[in-house]
Amino acid sequence: MNEFAARLLDWFDEHGRKDLPWQRDVNPYRVWVSEIMLQQTQVQTVVPYFERFMRSFPAIANLADADIDDVLDHWSGLGYYARARNMHRTAQIIRDDHGGELPDSIDAMRALPGIGRSTAGAIISLALGGRQPILDGNVKRVLARHAAIDGWPGTSDVATTLWAMSEKYTPAERVDHYTQAIMDLGATLCTRTGPRCEVCPVRPDCTAYAAGNVADYPGRKPKRPKPLRMTTMVLAIAENAVYLERRPASGIWGGLWSFPELPPERIDDWCARIANGKSVGREQLLPLRHSFSHFDLDIHPVVIRFDQVNASVADGSDATWYRLDQRPPGGIAAPVQKLIDSLRNPDNVANH
Ligand code: SF4
Repeated sequence: MNEFAARLLDWFDEHGRKDLPWQRDVNPYRVWVSEIMLQQTQVQTVVPYFERFMRSFPAIANLADADIDDVLDHWSGLGYYARARNMHRTAQIIRDDHGGELPDSIDAMRALPGIGRSTAGAIISLALGGRQPILDGNVKRVLARHAAIDGWPGTSDVATTLWAMSEKYTPAERVDHYTQAIMDLGATLCTRTGPRCEVCPVRPDCTAYAAGNVADYPGRKPKRPKPLRMTTMVLAIAENAVYLERRPASGIWGGLWSFPELPPERIDDWCARIANGKSVGREQLLPLRHSFSHFDLDIHPVVIRFDQVNASVADGSDATWYRLDQRPPGGIAAPVQKLIDSLRNPDNVANH
């Protein structure tokens, strides 16, 4: 076994994480769900989401047969909702075309929506013990520092170099422990800021450590200013209910429930449609900024209260009056949830 892997495995035996929920009752489905949740999200945030998800959808068949609203509800707050939509779609493909089991070949796995090379490698190595390399964000950072690989890993040249290193180091024996070990090393010691090199098992031959320039790796993404977009959301309230619409399946917050977004000049027409224009109060709240990876969004909320509404306008399938004391109709994006919470407590309305 190569020295890098041997050092990591010794370290893992003593310090690696062995009691995470997806390390119990290991199977490809549980590893798949955990890997998708862990993309862009920290372990401690993922744990309660994973446990709730598994209680509701303990097997692929349960996920495949579930309503997408229910799946998105279990994802509410985790962000990057395309992950949940892809998982649901993939579970249905597995049910219909793969006899209900995740395929065990890397190519068949990578053909499924939302499963890239690293996720497929993690499922095969962690759940099936097959020798496959992985290259998630943590592993990229460890390998880029260890061999002082210049450049941003988002470029194909750098990614190719890092994949070749990951392939070279991945051992044939104990591949499940090795895979967990290198992910753990990146998450707990070789962290983005404040790496703890003094206790790192691969420090003896770490190039960046020897050169004293650990912070230079991995190379940063070239900075471009983020564009700022603006939108107006209408928070319509009637008695103890708010008006929510289901967003289109694609695009931001696809399939989630949200307040309607309208240009200000169309708000009166909208009020006429849902309540014959008879609003009893209108109030502009402070804007709320939400950051996406590619742009920032300033949401300008307008609260409009009604005595009476045309109930037939919202039949529940794509629009509904959501009573604030009941379960939400499906998944709700974090900033929309924040606005709903501020409506539950009117004292917060002016300064959410
Ligand atoms: S020695 Fe430091 S920089 Fe090198 S792999 Fe270990 S923690 Fe990362």
